[in-house]
Amino acid sequence: MRLKDFNPRNIRVEDQRGSGGGSRFPGGGGGKLGIVAIVVALAISYFTGIDVTQLLGGLQQAGEQTASTGSVQQAGTNAEESCNADALSRESCAALASLNETWEPLFTQAGVPFSQPKLVFYSQSGQSGCGAAQSAMGPFYCPSDRGIYIDTDFYREMEQRLGAGGDFARAYVMAHEYGHHVQALTGLADQVRRAQQRNPDAANQLQVRMELQADCYAGVWAAKNRNLIEPGDIEEGLNAAHQIGDDTLMRNAGRRPVEEAFTHGSSAQRKEWLRRGIETGNEDMCDTFSGMKQT
Ligand SMILES: [Zn+2]
Repeated sequence: MRLKDFNPRNIRVEDQRGSGGGSRFPGGGGGKLGIVAIVVALAISYFTGIDVTQLLGGLQQAGEQTASTGSVQQAGTNAEESCNADALSRESCAALASLNETWEPLFTQAGVPFSQPKLVFYSQSGQSGCGAAQSAMGPFYCPSDRGIYIDTDFYREMEQRLGAGGDFARAYVMAHEYGHHVQALTGLADQVRRAQQRNPDAANQLQVRMELQADCYAGVWAAKNRNLIEPGDIEEGLNAAHQIGDDTLMRNAGRRPVEEAFTHGSSAQRKEWLRRGIETGNEDMCDTFSGMKQT
């Protein structure tokens, strides 16, 4: 993907790397849980293979207490410096700038207020408005501070351990997290959280639908930037979607895939929804919730 040059002054970046950045064991206190905690807990399962479905009940209750975002320290670096730290940082910033450019007009057209997310770089551990950030979680979105948290080392992990390398695979990850920002702005994220609280039995399925929608939104962004796409990019994205599908992750961890324990959807589902976004280029085609069986 040939991401365009961007003006660092037009994007929001926070840097917790280096001195004054994330402490080794930040946060610690409980109480800042919500859907994000669920997302985060589930993201952990990616790498640890822990079955976290049992945790959902507890987290859901904790979600009721979702409140203060705490104060996330702004490291004293500017976006330009942070984006230029290395090639992966620069690429992440460029992807963010492109995502802003693509989504803002769609919100304007729809008459829904838009605000940019911030991109937060951290190394190994950091702090988010949703609690501690740990590399092992993989990238995540925190709705309470509207932040996309990323340890760019994850990309090496993705390439080496998950077999999902390539710049478009990385852009897909950013675009997926941005998809969660879109869901926060449209109110979908809150709706899902309330539905999960009302109906804990469907919490997991709702979670998966939300993740698949973020995949579809990632595809929509790609579709709206077709001119930047290079040969092989789409395959790279679909391969990444396959490699991070729940059944594939479980199988690679030596476990039998159990659908009830899925958090992001199967490889087939993730590919299907990413592809749908890419093929239609229409965010309205990303309704992963209709047709959901009522439980
Ligand atoms: Zn996600």
